[in-house]
This record gives sequence, structure tokens and C-alpha cells, in this order.
Amino acid sequence: MAATIMDGKALAAKVKARVRAQADTLARRPGLAVILVGDDPASRVYVNGKRRDCTECGFYSEEYALPAETPQAELMALVETLNTRADIDGILCQLPLPKGLDEMAVLRAIAPGKDVDCFHPFNVGELMIGMQSFQPCTPAGVMELLDEYGIDPAGKHAVVVGRSNIVGKPQAMLLLQRNATVTICHSRTPDLAGQCRRADILVSAVGRQGLITGDMVKEGAVVIDVAMNRDENGKLCGDVCFDEAARKAAYITPVPGGVGPMTRAMLMVNTLTAARLHQNG
Ligand code: NAP
Repeated sequence: MAATIMDGKALAAKVKARVRAQADTLARRPGLAVILVGDDPASRVYVNGKRRDCTECGFYSEEYALPAETPQAELMALVETLNTRADIDGILCQLPLPKGLDEMAVLRAIAPGKDVDCFHPFNVGELMIGMQSFQPCTPAGVMELLDEYGIDPAGKHAVVVGRSNIVGKPQAMLLLQRNATVTICHSRTPDLAGQCRRADILVSAVGRQGLITGDMVKEGAVVIDVAMNRDENGKLCGDVCFDEAARKAAYITPVPGGVGPMTRAMLMVNTLTAARLHQNG
């Protein structure tokens, strides 16, 4: 079977065009503030991408590039100021923060209504009970891809490999909300291959090149590769052995060009949602 390749790049462009059209109808354009602490090159690339996305979607954006030595109190004060600004709908603090800074304290300080990453414990709790205003960007991007390709998770067995707070756990929750039967696997899961082989929808979010081999994929499965690893030549790759898996799967995401662009697009969706909530009182 030749798998259909799920084109996240094309879908992200479509989502952003939709966001732009909706943003243009608002009385005030959505505003996003991005905080970058330190000089991690990967974080810089992500932040530059987010700025470009804001321009594309007609948003107002601000960037705060702070030195790695920034004291916690200064960072917290910046978040507090942004929380009170009427022109800022979303606040994003690029993670990871340099050593010595308390990430959870910063995430907790962001007003839940401006938490467009959906990392604040309040929003995580809302997600848990299915009452969320925002969905975390990467898992939401995966759901958008499934919808685009007409894949209804209802009644399917979904296996999520990885249980991080930003990907694995919320991914499992979103699949459960859509009536999949969900198994979550992690580093202590015995017989990972056996678990994966039971998946109608297999989502891998680990960060280990070559973890998911072709023999771990059920015939006709949907394979979503969230991971972003670098191979021995520095090329971007996922967890899944793409060629092997594509021979078994019905649908598969590439890396790059799959989930990555969708994550960025969903940040724009969340910022638009926040702007709407703020403008409607
Ligand atoms: P993370 O916090 O490091 O979590 C990795 C998870 O994988 C953990 O739950 C860990 O289990 C599990 N794991 C590790 N080794 C395993 C093994 N051999 N078998 C089964 N499970 C194993 O990573 P993350 O932040 O969730 O990110 C995961 C990957 O997605 C990374 O490659 C990251 O770069 C990528 N990512 C991509 C996007 C995107 O936009 N495409 C966004 C975010 C992240 P334990 O909990 O037991 O340690």
C-alpha cells in the first residue's frame, strides 16, 4: 500500500489564510508578544518563524529578546505588564528558558486568557474537562491534519508514544475527546512494538530517530510523526523510519513538512481566538 503523505505545509498555509480573513473582520487586529530569553539558536529560529506568521496573518507582534542573565523578577514583571496591555492578546515565552529561571513560575504568571500556548495549569485543567478555549498548538495541529484528511478518530485505537505535558498528554486528551480509545506509551512501556502494532492512529512524540520501524506499524494505520530530530548529517528527521512505515500506513506525515508547520499555524488560531474573546468582553 502506498501511503498518502499528509501535507502539513499546505494545510498550515490554508489555516493561516483562514485566520487572516477572520482577523481582518475584527475591530482591532490580534496582538502577540513573544519573549525569548538567552541565545539558543533553535529558539531564535522558532521566534523568527512566529514573527513571520504574525505578519502573514495581519497580527500585531512584539518581541522581547532578553539576555540569559535576566533575573526571574524582571521576567515576571514583563509578563505582568503584558497581562495588562489591551493591545496584546497572546503572550508566549519561548521554552526552554536558560538554567536558573523557573519556567513553571513564568507559565503560571501568564494570564490564562492570554496563554496561547495552553500551558497554564488553568488551561490544562480546562482541556482535561473538555471546556478549553485554547488547545495546545502541536496536538491541535495533529487533530487539524486528521480532519483535513477525513480521518475520524471515533472508535479507533490511538497509540500516543510520549507523555510530555506539551505533546503526549494533551494529544491523548484531544484524541479521547474525539472518541478514540487511547493508549499512552512512554520510556517504561514494555513491548512498545506490540502496543504500536495495535494502533489505527499512531502518534510518535519522543525525539529519538529510528524509534518507530516499519514492523511496528499496522497495515492501513495513520502514522503521525511529531518529533524533530537531527540525523548524523544535521538533517531534520522524526522518530519514524519513513520509507518502511509508508509501505504499511494508509496516511503518514513527513518530517519536515508535517506537524511542524501545523504547530505554528495553530498558534495563530489561538491568538485569533484570544483576540475574539478579549474583544467580545
Ligand atoms: P519530552 O518532553 O522529552 O518527552 C519525550 C517522551 O518520550 C517522554 O514521555 C518519554 O518517556 C518518552 N520516551 C523516551 N524514550 C522512549 C522510548 N524509548 N520509548 C517510548 N517512549 C519514550 O519531549 P517533547 O517535548 O514531548 O517532544 C517530543 C518530540 O517532539 C521532540 O522530538 C520534539 O522536538 C518534538 N516536538 C515537535 C513539535 C512540532 O511542532 N513538530 C513540537 C513540540 C515537540 P518518559 O516520560 O518515561 O521519560
